[in-house]
Amino acid sequence: MLQATKQLSLIDFGNVKLFINGEWTSASNGSTFSVKNPNTGEVVAEVPRGAKEETKAAIEAANGALPNWAKLTANDRADYLLKVRDLMIEHEAELATIMSIEMGKAYTEACGEVKYAASFLTWYAEEGRRVYGETIPASSPNKRLFVVKQPVGIIAAITPWNFPLAMMTRKLGPALAAGCTGIVKPASQSPLSALAFAALVKKAGIPKGVVNIVAGATAEISDEIFENPVVKKISFTGSTEVGKKLVEKSANQLKKLSLELGGHAPFIVFEDADLEKAAEGAVASKFRNAGQTCVCANRIYVHENIKERFTKLFVEKVLALKVGNSLDQTVQIGPLVSKEGLGKVQEHVEDAISKGAEVLTGGKVTGDQKGFYYEPTVLGNVTKDMIIMTEETFGPVAPITTFQNDEEVIYEANNTEYGLAAYLYTSNIQRAVTVSEALNFGVIGLNDAVPGVAQAPFGGMNHSGYGREGGHQGIKDYLEEKYISLEL
Ligand code: NAP
Repeated sequence: MLQATKQLSLIDFGNVKLFINGEWTSASNGSTFSVKNPNTGEVVAEVPRGAKEETKAAIEAANGALPNWAKLTANDRADYLLKVRDLMIEHEAELATIMSIEMGKAYTEACGEVKYAASFLTWYAEEGRRVYGETIPASSPNKRLFVVKQPVGIIAAITPWNFPLAMMTRKLGPALAAGCTGIVKPASQSPLSALAFAALVKKAGIPKGVVNIVAGATAEISDEIFENPVVKKISFTGSTEVGKKLVEKSANQLKKLSLELGGHAPFIVFEDADLEKAAEGAVASKFRNAGQTCVCANRIYVHENIKERFTKLFVEKVLALKVGNSLDQTVQIGPLVSKEGLGKVQEHVEDAISKGAEVLTGGKVTGDQKGFYYEPTVLGNVTKDMIIMTEETFGPVAPITTFQNDEEVIYEANNTEYGLAAYLYTSNIQRAVTVSEALNFGVIGLNDAVPGVAQAPFGGMNHSGYGREGGHQGIKDYLEEKYISLEL
C-alpha cells in the first residue's frame, strides 16, 4: 500500500486538505478525522474536519463564482468539463488506487468506475449545448411568449462512499454544464477520491469557487447547506433512512431536492432464459463492488424447473471469484467498507441460516481478521421471512428462491418498499415486455445485468427516491424554466 501511495501526484496522504475557493484549506479549528483502509484497518490519512465555517466559506465562494460561470457560453463550459474528463482518463490508475485504498473497491473495477465517472462529464458537456428554450403561440397578435432555461444557482451534492467518483460527476456534470456552481460533501469513508478530483478541477483551470469540496462534520455541514438560503438545490445519493430526514429538513427553505436512495433489486430467471447468460449476469449484478451497490441483485428468483441447473452454473462462477486485497489486480472481491458493513452481512446470513437457508458456498468471514473480507456466498432454500429478502444486505451474499409462474414472481418482486432496479432474464419477447412493464422499478435490466450508462435516466420509485440522473433528464433539476410574455 505504501508503495502505491508513493506514486500519487494528486493527493498527499500525509497532508490532505479541503478544497474551497480554488485553495487547499485546513479546518479553521485544526481538527481532523481519520480515513481507514478497509483492507487492513489502518489509518491512511487524516482529513481536515470541515464544519459550519468551512461550509459557509464554500457556499460564499460558489456564490461569488456563479455570475461569471453562468455567463459563459455552453461551449466554454463544455471545454472545461472535457478538460477535466481528459485529466480523469489520464490519471485513471491513480484515481483507482486512491479509491481502492480508501473504500476497498477491487482495483480493476475502480478503473471501470473512473471511466464511468468521466463519461458523465462527456455526456453533460454535450447535453449543456442542447439546453433549448421554447416559443409558445400567443393568444393575441401583439404578444410573443418564450420560455428560457437558466441555471438554478448554487447547488450542493451529498455523495456516498460506494461510488466515490461516479456519484459525484453524475451530479456535478449536469450542474456545471447548466451553469451552476456548488459544494460537494463526500462520504466520510471516501473523501480522498473527491479531493483528488478537486486537484484535476484545479489543473483544468476551472475558475475558483465553481467547485468546492468540504468533508467532515456531517451534521454541521448538512445543517449549513439546508439552512443557507443561497443554496437552491441539493442532490443526495445515500440511504433511504437519511434521505427521509433530508426531505423534512428541506421544507424550511423549500430546497429543490433529488434523492437517489437504497434499493432491493429482484433478479428473475425465467424457465426460457439463456441460463449461462443469466448466471453470468447474476454474478455481475450481485458481486460488483463486493455486493455494495444500490442496484445489486438482492433477491434471486429462479423458476422451479431450472433451479438445479441455474444454481449449479451460478455457484461454479461464484467459486471462481478471487477475494483479497483490493489493490491486487487479479482480485475481484475486495473487503467490505467497514466493520459495521461486515457485521450487517454476518447478521443477514445468520438470520437466514437460523430460518432454514442452506449455504451453497461461502458463508464466512475470511482473511486475516484485520481487513473486512467476507466469502462470496450463495444461499439456497431462502424464504421471504428472512431479513435478507427485505433489507439491503450490501455484501457479497446471493439468496436464491424459486417461483412457479409469472403472476407470482411479479407480485413477489414488487412486494418491497423500494423501487430502484430489477432484472429479468427470458428469451420470450412477450414475457420480456409484459413483465418489464409490470415491475415497479425505475431501472429494468432485461437480459442485462449492468444497465447504468451516462446517456440513460437512472433513479428510483417509492422509497428509492425521486428525480433522475443521467440522460437528457439529468440536467433538468439544475435548470429553472422562466416564462417571458412580451407585448409588442
Ligand atoms: P448514507 O449513510 O445515507 O450516507 C450518504 C451520504 O450522506 C454521506 O456523505 C453521509 O456522510 C451523508 N449523511 C449521513 N447522514 C446524514 C445526515 N443526517 N444529513 C446529511 N447527510 C448525511 O449512505 P451510505 O452508507 O454512504 O451509502 C450507501 C447507501 O447509498 C445505500 O443505501 C445505497 O443503496 C445508496 N446508494 C444509492 C444510489 C442510487 O443511485 N440510488 C447509488 C449509490 C448508493 P457521512 O459519510 O459523513 O456519514
